[in-house]
Amino acid sequence: MDVNVLDLQRMSTEDGPGLRTTVFFKGCNLKCAWCHNPESISYRPDPNWFKNKCIGCNICVAVCPQKGISKTSDGLHFSRERCTACRTCEKKCPNAAIELKGKRYETDALARELLKDKAYWGADGGVTLSGGEVMMQHKAAIEVARLLKEERVSVAVDTAGCYDFRILEEILPYTDLVLYDLKLFDPKDHKKYTGADNAVILENYKKLTDKKIRVWVRTPIIEGATDTPQNIESIARFLAEIGQPERWELCTFNNLCRDKYERLDLTWAYQETQKTSKQHAENLQEIARRYVANAAYTGAVQEVISNR
Ligand code: SF4
Ligand code: SF4
Repeated sequence: MDVNVLDLQRMSTEDGPGLRTTVFFKGCNLKCAWCHNPESISYRPDPNWFKNKCIGCNICVAVCPQKGISKTSDGLHFSRERCTACRTCEKKCPNAAIELKGKRYETDALARELLKDKAYWGADGGVTLSGGEVMMQHKAAIEVARLLKEERVSVAVDTAGCYDFRILEEILPYTDLVLYDLKLFDPKDHKKYTGADNAVILENYKKLTDKKIRVWVRTPIIEGATDTPQNIESIARFLAEIGQPERWELCTFNNLCRDKYERLDLTWAYQETQKTSKQHAENLQEIARRYVANAAYTGAVQEVISNR
């Protein structure tokens, strides 16, 4: 079975306990307005254009079999509708100014690649399966988790939980920890900012707690969307009532990923939004802790660190 992966992030400290290797699976069923990993949204690789490397030779425009690349006064544009991810432009570019991020692995090859990192995981660390939405490729995710468990590796699954619980249930026998996103409590706001209703997400959280699964909840702190006292208090009350997670992380915002949007030729509403202030994070943490003792704000919304 094969699996589409955006990237592997080694020595990760923000995706569960200890030192971990995080696998970012491609494909997502949510459309969060603030997404920090826009390259992980589509299932297949998208062309990333590195403007600073481009020498303007137009070779890519000429070789694209889909006529999917056009040149305008403000640079190259790649048509997502036309692109078939054939990688011709990437191969023919004379200055490595185009990269299609993403790689296809066989599940056993991915597990072998991950096991190379075993030496640094220690007693607490391991592998985190993340995305995108990892459960969009759930059969492959289950297989990778099963292979890792055979080697006694600690496996965490990082998910937004917006799907039938039976899908999540299948991976639980091979999972030590679920990192579970609760972004917005109000259903209308959730729909507005992520494109999806949150009823199934809340229901699935309840099912996880009923099963006594080890869960860390994560809430991104996004200006004007999730960072209101009302939202944090609503989630806090829900957690206190349904079942407290082992940990609740309020993940502060930064805009370091804005270059990714430029490379993908996408606009981003949070381009100029500043990092969450310490004071604001502390205020929200204080509200959270009235209901959930182990709530804490953390460094940043999780993202794949660009390697270029
Ligand atoms: S082939 Fe490469 S260098 Fe030439 S125009 Fe395209 S991106 Fe720029
Ligand atoms: S990957 Fe292929 S189809 Fe997509 S833009 Fe490049 S040459 Fe065109």
